[in-house]
Amino acid sequence: MRVTQLNVTQKNVTQLNETHDPALQSWVSSANFAGTDFPIQNLPFAVFRRSGSNEAFRGGVAIGDAVLDLAAVHAKGIFTGPAGLAVQAAAAENLNAFMALGPAVWSALRLALSRALRAGAKEEHALQDCLLPMAAVEYTVPANIGDYTDFYTSIYHATNIGKLFRPDNPLLPNYKWIPIGYHGRASSIGISGQHFRRPLGQIMPPGAEKPVLALSKRLDIELELGIFIGAGNALGESIPIAEAESHVFGICLLNDWSARDIQGWEYQPLGPFLAKNFATTISPWIVTLEALAPYRTAFTRPAEDPQPLPYLDSEANRAAGAFDIQLQVGLQTPRMREEKQSEHVFCRTSYRHAYWTIAQMLTHHTVNGCNLRPGDLFGSGTLSGPTLEQAGALIEITAGGKNPMPLPNGEQRTFLEDGDTVVIRGWCEKPGAARIGFGDCTGTVMPGKVV
Ligand code: CA
Repeated sequence: MRVTQLNVTQKNVTQLNETHDPALQSWVSSANFAGTDFPIQNLPFAVFRRSGSNEAFRGGVAIGDAVLDLAAVHAKGIFTGPAGLAVQAAAAENLNAFMALGPAVWSALRLALSRALRAGAKEEHALQDCLLPMAAVEYTVPANIGDYTDFYTSIYHATNIGKLFRPDNPLLPNYKWIPIGYHGRASSIGISGQHFRRPLGQIMPPGAEKPVLALSKRLDIELELGIFIGAGNALGESIPIAEAESHVFGICLLNDWSARDIQGWEYQPLGPFLAKNFATTISPWIVTLEALAPYRTAFTRPAEDPQPLPYLDSEANRAAGAFDIQLQVGLQTPRMREEKQSEHVFCRTSYRHAYWTIAQMLTHHTVNGCNLRPGDLFGSGTLSGPTLEQAGALIEITAGGKNPMPLPNGEQRTFLEDGDTVVIRGWCEKPGAARIGFGDCTGTVMPGKVV
């Protein structure tokens, strides 16, 4: 069977169907536990292998506290038709070919998995052999990421940062018209658990006459979501907003580590460069837009703000273009780790506060004919909400390092110190829908190296 790009409009990825039924139970009992990130209504994708092995990485689906090995499912020939082709593509060492197949095929696999993992399914016996305990696997970056673009879609973050860098002119006049972004660096994107060196860079000390080369002292985090592109577009062909979401495979958590002292000196006139490209960490599990359908919410603008230009506007985008994804960020210092204390959560917010939607980011990115490819990654930009408790970067919480953040054990932080681990978590929950989660995205700062 030849898989062609089926005609899938935004409608297909927003509608609820049998896979979202909150009453569904799985024969994998841990998927039915209250509070699990991975019930049968979620079914996110990652690339994994047994921890510490030399096995080939391959695609997997999370179900409760287990991973369903898609290479094993493919080898057994359990699924046929579009779902079988999807499994074949997803059994590879990265998900690019699977992402390229488009939403009709992703959706066919989701339906087949949902039915086969349900309590009483006839596939239970065959699929039992394809499960591995999640605790016994390791992950890698799930796609060969050709290009990475980081946006800036929280107006609260843009305003807070703007006040620190440009007190007299915090929000630039283009912000409310353009989904602002820059082209980032794909080579330094790592998977959750990433350890990276504190970066060395050129810094202009306050009041100094010339810059110095030094290790960053103002190392920060940025709470973001990562958006993986599915099927791409040909160079020269833009993607209208009505079709934008059919090009989005799914969403993960993302930490855009940022060296604020390097950034402050280098960022004008062309934007972030070495302050951002030394490490970016993503969570292993990609939650599909279809799984997130129950958590769509209206995209609105304050009445006094300009409404988006027509190419960034649609009825569907206004009705349901935003997502209510709960997010939190925690910090665990080396002392907390020694004393067996879990991370201190210092930020709680939601993706629903973003000023631009995913569809708007994607449509704007291609409006000039720029071609996206399967496996490309967008960062949402730091997802700070309206209050200080919802700020997704230390530079906002500490007012540029002026107000240290106290920790429960008496320690404090302005920016990150060596050995600090940052943990981002994300989930969706509301009455009438199954709670689904993203797992976590952790990264640890290692001492820098002076040349
Ligand atoms: Ca960022």
